[in-house]
Amino acid sequence: MNCRQVVELMTDYLEGALSAIDRARFEEHIAGCDGCTAYLAQLRMARKIMGTLADEPVPALVEKELLEAFRSWRSTR
Ligand SMILES: [Zn+2]
Repeated sequence: MNCRQVVELMTDYLEGALSAIDRARFEEHIAGCDGCTAYLAQLRMARKIMGTLADEPVPALVEKELLEAFRSWRSTR
């Protein structure tokens, strides 16, 4: 599993929607990848903040912004 795949599965991971196999592969990647660890923490925080504002999932726009922030973070390294 590469970073891109991990990022795409993050929402499902946080919602507990991954299969056991995907979840294991996801966590294996996260354990060895600082970028994805940081991104997961950001996403988790964003979802927590949104959750306190409204009882709704994180809007697609916010996820898109985070994804773009993550991509630019990757490309500057
Ligand atoms: Zn990664």
